[in-house]
Amino acid sequence: MSLRVHVLGSGSRGNSILLETSEIRILVDAGLSGRQIERRLQAIDIPPKTVSALLVTHEHRDHTQGMGVFARRHAVPIYITRATARSCASLLGGDEEIHYYRPGQPVDLGDIQVEPFLTSHDAIDPVAVTLRQRSSGLKVGIATDLGTPTVSVRHALQRSHLLILEANHDDVMLREGPYPWSVKSRIAGRHGHLSNRAAAELGRELMHEDLAGVVLAHLSQECNSAQLAYETVGGSLKQAGLRAPVWVAIQDEPLAALDVERLHAAVRSPQLALF
Ligand SMILES: [Zn+2]
Ligand SMILES: [Zn+2]
Repeated sequence: MSLRVHVLGSGSRGNSILLETSEIRILVDAGLSGRQIERRLQAIDIPPKTVSALLVTHEHRDHTQGMGVFARRHAVPIYITRATARSCASLLGGDEEIHYYRPGQPVDLGDIQVEPFLTSHDAIDPVAVTLRQRSSGLKVGIATDLGTPTVSVRHALQRSHLLILEANHDDVMLREGPYPWSVKSRIAGRHGHLSNRAAAELGRELMHEDLAGVVLAHLSQECNSAQLAYETVGGSLKQAGLRAPVWVAIQDEPLAALDVERLHAAVRSPQLALF
């Protein structure tokens, strides 16, 4: 009945997260190269061929770069919306197994129920997902590439036990950073990315007594740092009473495996939480 999450890598240059139970292994996005995803899976003793499904959230390269290669090489079925599949047709060779999913329509994969939901982002048909293990009731919310946390995003992520949340940029670093004005306003806009400040606000709203861990993800290379994201978002959540741990995912290395069941037990039991 175990439920583990491996953030293989996250940031503006590529995102890929693996969720595994004793029944199934699901990859969310393939934004690293096919080879890099293989390497990172092998490093945690997961043969790429044992991945049962690849969920794709939107067509941006930092979520799809390795999609076609990985799916073809290891015969992994792709779950994607119809419009997103059309917009990244060049990555697909035509012989992949494709399943179309839609926001608001849950998909059952092994003991996991996947719920794709619509996000506000400058892609053709962007979604984020929650994954709930039916036997344990444990829920993992993965939401990056959020221009603004809409009502549907906030609703979908409610009562997640593990939250993987975008903390893309620091407002000041973005304002004073190297990008041209048009890029800055795109990133900060309603269809861009979530700032540390906005992530803290959303995180505080989503806090509940069973929230067992928060991962800050999709950090901008130029306009954020792991320390700043941790201090701003983590600090704000801790101040609001969060007892659970906060991690920052980085681009070039996987985060240590997160055992959601164990994290949940620790947050439910104050004695365990002391250690
Ligand atoms: Zn994107
Ligand atoms: Zn992205």
